Amino acid sequence: MARPHPRPHRHAVRRILLPSGRSIEVVRFEQETDQSVRPLHVCPDCACELIQPSDWSEAADHGWRMTLGCPNCGWSETATYPAEAVEQLEARLDSGLEEMIDDLRRLTHANMVAEMDSFVAALRHDVILPEDF
Ligand SMILES: [Zn+2]
Repeated sequence: MARPHPRPHRHAVRRILLPSGRSIEVVRFEQETDQSVRPLHVCPDCACELIQPSDWSEAADHGWRMTLGCPNCGWSETATYPAEAVEQLEARLDSGLEEMIDDLRRLTHANMVAEMDSFVAALRHDVILPEDF
């Protein structure tokens, strides 16, 4: 029996242009999720994948009562969701936070490199004077 081909990873590439003219490339891979439950991170109105919870409390049957909102179109809903769906949303929010921290780290590094390049160029052209400090 032939082995099934591995499912290709879906990914998105985003290029961030820095003020210095340099750019960094950000690649995001989509996570495998359980397709049997509604993905709470996706807006049912505009398909934006940035749904955020603004209020939550435990409900019966291990579910969670939450208010979800879409930052893109303003859609909002308060309902009780099954624990599995909430766990997937939580994992998605966690990985989104990690991605933002990684982006921030890369952006900070790229900006520091650009600043150092400017400083070195200024030193080479002898335009930094004692009164600059
Ligand atoms: Zn939306």
